[in-house]
Amino acid sequence: MAHEHLVIGIDLGGTNIRTAVVDRTGGIIAHDHRETLANEGPRAVISRMIEAARMVMAQAGVARCQVAEVGVGSPGPLDIEAGVALSPPNLPGWDRVPLRQLIEEGLGIPTTLENDANAAALGEHRFGAGRGVDHMIYVTVSTGIGGGLILGGELYHGATGMAGEIGHITILPHGPLCGCGNRGCLEALASGSAIARRAREIVAHGVPTRIADLAGGDLDLITARLVADAAREGDVEAEGILSEAMDYLGTGLASLVNLFNPQLVVIGGGLAHIGEWLFGPVRRAIKRRAFPAQAQAVRVVPAELGDHVGVLGAAAVAWCRLADQEERWETALRALKQAEEAYAKRQHQPPGIMGSAGGGVYRSIPWHG
Ligand SMILES: [Zn+2]
Repeated sequence: MAHEHLVIGIDLGGTNIRTAVVDRTGGIIAHDHRETLANEGPRAVISRMIEAARMVMAQAGVARCQVAEVGVGSPGPLDIEAGVALSPPNLPGWDRVPLRQLIEEGLGIPTTLENDANAAALGEHRFGAGRGVDHMIYVTVSTGIGGGLILGGELYHGATGMAGEIGHITILPHGPLCGCGNRGCLEALASGSAIARRAREIVAHGVPTRIADLAGGDLDLITARLVADAAREGDVEAEGILSEAMDYLGTGLASLVNLFNPQLVVIGGGLAHIGEWLFGPVRRAIKRRAFPAQAQAVRVVPAELGDHVGVLGAAAVAWCRLADQEERWETALRALKQAEEAYAKRQHQPPGIMGSAGGGVYRSIPWHG
């Protein structure tokens, strides 16, 4: 182990910071979990991230020189090229914070920044449900809806690093207002908060449903989880709310299946725990709406990394960065080898050939004295 390189993954969330030392296979060697306390501002939060990274290195008994890279998964929007957090809604008071540079300087270890949903997609691709698959769509459904696209074995970033915003595909042009300002986004129709809001509307209309009983008549206590509980008890309204929302999710995914022809759709996030209430309608919508050949080629499966997806995703970002570097190193070595071979060839050319490089003319001139 002593000379085997490791990485550190840091999952920065609005509520928690999770940090781990991770090996090449996704094995977690040491792990730290602490509150973000985002209200204390970027300086305090970044200090906590650095402290957590030092803590996991000490726990794992690894020196700084054994950690080849740090990967950070952060809420977007980010400028990933510059390593800057632009102004994430989950991190109030952060505006153009040079997150990558601060972590890199603080730890003295090269650092890469990635948006959290893309990091999770990389994590599932490298260590989870998407192992060995080249074309994969990852979706996380919890309070919001996020995602990432793995195309041709690599994370697809788009022109400015912001591709994969699956939650903001327009499904209903005049539908409910989304947090992004648009109407009828997938997130406004199929996320945990969308399901809870729809349930509140239905209860407020006085429709008799088990949801109202479970919430004790308090609209504020209605959550997507509670709607799922009511559905499990056979409540028709709850079943209707879930199947409508998940049909929207499947509708959005059917378009992505037609666009990208993936082998796999991986669905994670808190709402994936409702199981068939989610996967049933999603699979049916894809089958109904996508081209038959594409619908047949794709499997829709639950994510595998569970609560570790954030930190393993951040570690996967670091491993991908190292793999890119190795590839560039190999390319440089190949170029060096070609140069060496060309030089050796010139050295062995017979003397006296006019204009040839490597000393042909030089050798044809006789020595004097
Ligand atoms: Zn939106």
